[in-house]
Amino acid sequence: MQGFNKYYPPDFDGSKHSSLNAYRGKHALGDRARKIDQGILITRFELPFNIWCGTCNNHIGMGVRYNAEKKKVGNYYSTPIYSFRCKCHLCDGWFEIQTDPKNTRYVVVSGARKKEEDWDPEENGGFAVHDTDPNAAPVDPLAALEKSTDAQNHMNKVQVPRLEALQSHSDHFGSDPYALSLRARKKFRVEKKIDKEKKLVDDSLKSKYGLPETLSLTAESEDTRAQAKEEWLRGRQEFEAQQMSKKRKLVDVGVVPRLPPALRSSSSKSSESSSSNLPNPLESLRTRILRNTASKTRLKSSGLKR
Ligand SMILES: [Zn+2]
Repeated sequence: MQGFNKYYPPDFDGSKHSSLNAYRGKHALGDRARKIDQGILITRFELPFNIWCGTCNNHIGMGVRYNAEKKKVGNYYSTPIYSFRCKCHLCDGWFEIQTDPKNTRYVVVSGARKKEEDWDPEENGGFAVHDTDPNAAPVDPLAALEKSTDAQNHMNKVQVPRLEALQSHSDHFGSDPYALSLRARKKFRVEKKIDKEKKLVDDSLKSKYGLPETLSLTAESEDTRAQAKEEWLRGRQEFEAQQMSKKRKLVDVGVVPRLPPALRSSSSKSSESSSSNLPNPLESLRTRILRNTASKTRLKSSGLKR
């Protein structure tokens, strides 16, 4: 075991032994470095996916940890590729898993079988992930030249004039902000004055007729005046027609007696004895109620018979 304290024994010679670990003939990582001369360091490795052991064919779940022999086996550009060699805990078989920096994942190299549970977008209704095509044909230099010439022409004939026009437009409106602001404020001041006067008139009108504060009135002109007159006339006519029809209805029902006496005598036949010839609204109402109750009792008695 490597030393854990700073005790220097009496026979420790700094010139001979460079460190305490060297004095004891131990590596700083202790027993885990027992195969360091073969380039192997023993590390704790956790299975990144489910596998089946190739020797005993048992299922080994994701997350099971092993004392794996970690070793550098190559490079992907400057990234080292590591291999982890683990001994199955259910049998004596070994399996090896390597890192895959290109695809940022782990691959089973030997001794086991990975359970394929990776998310496949194509299988699940998405789009497949494609690498850029390595076998694409080389670019045609003439076509490329034509394209660049077209782009140059487009820039000279369309884009540059457009940019210049925008620039001059911007200069026109941005060159003298003081004068522009002055003009704008002068205009607004005049408009504000007119608006204020109009509001004063409107408010007095609203308060006169008890209209709500939020109601906005239209500006007065010949047209609106004529329209308003028209509307008023129409409304008046409608109101009169309504009143007339109401009166006619009352006469039909009998609440208000008809004017010709010949017609009246037929409606007040049952109350001949009590009534005089003068039209009496109270009397006619009484007659109607009596007639109605009589008809109702008649209906009831006929229903009983049946
Ligand atoms: Zn096994």
